[in-house]
Amino acid sequence: MPFDAIIGQSRPLMILKRMLHSGNVAHALLFSGIAGVGKHTTARALSRALNCAGGSADFCGVCPSCKKTATGMHPDIMEIAPPPDKHVIKIDQIRSLQNSIIYAPVEGPWRVVIIDQAERLNKEAANCLLKTLEEPPQATVLILIASSAARLLPTVVSRCQKIAFAPLSGHDIRTLLERAGIPADTAARAAAHAHGSLHRARQLLDGSLLEDFNRLASMMIARRAADECFEMAATLAKAPDRLPALLILLLEWLRDMRLCRHGAHAEQLFNPGQADALMHAARQIEPLRLNRQIAQVCRLMDDPQRTYNMQLGLESLLLS
Ligand SMILES: [Zn+2]
Repeated sequence: MPFDAIIGQSRPLMILKRMLHSGNVAHALLFSGIAGVGKHTTARALSRALNCAGGSADFCGVCPSCKKTATGMHPDIMEIAPPPDKHVIKIDQIRSLQNSIIYAPVEGPWRVVIIDQAERLNKEAANCLLKTLEEPPQATVLILIASSAARLLPTVVSRCQKIAFAPLSGHDIRTLLERAGIPADTAARAAAHAHGSLHRARQLLDGSLLEDFNRLASMMIARRAADECFEMAATLAKAPDRLPALLILLLEWLRDMRLCRHGAHAEQLFNPGQADALMHAARQIEPLRLNRQIAQVCRLMDDPQRTYNMQLGLESLLLS
């Protein structure tokens, strides 16, 4: 059955199936968890199940409603996200949504609104959405998707039924990658560095990401000309979606170098296959500089709202 095709989220699926069976559907749900664990896939599956003509607590995939949702053509299922060139969901998008959900669903029993990256609702948009959460229209379900409930206004969170999505296991990520045709050894390597996120595992399979990592790692050891550092920082800052995966790789590598300096065994490293190269690199860098770099990478990773100037931070890291 289609819900069963979602891997590694048995608890959220159990809650949702129970909700569908009982017919007691919450008007606002908040799916929270790191990127790449199945929140969006589950939200779409729920929107299908609510409108499926099959009449079970799942969706059939073949009825007219399921076919329309699969192609994004169902008039009662809407999705909102930050515009491609923007970082925030603005109040205009929420007002437009509110105008379009005044009337009853057109075709199915339920209207479903998926708000992706809800942590990017700006304050005005979030406050505007509160009105809808307080007085939801009939037969309407709002599904907010966020990396963490803590990044939303408490007044928004308190009006939603919260469903937490856990990081995926390495085994689950390997299974999903292999299902997508990735060779087993490549899938295993990406899963080992994915920290529970299929999204991150897929980024790690992108050859250019590893190229950037290798260049960045070499720049950590040997000081480079300022022009080269500025150019690298500018290039990386232009692709902010790749940065989390890149910074995790870098942090693991720096941490491994520090452990190597203290005589750690290969099995204690994130990169056990590169123990010799790490030891060689660790001998070339002063301990204080290494500690400073680790602190700087942590600071870049901890910036949840991207308010920190990423390019400036990267320049500072590369020039340190
Ligand atoms: Zn169906």
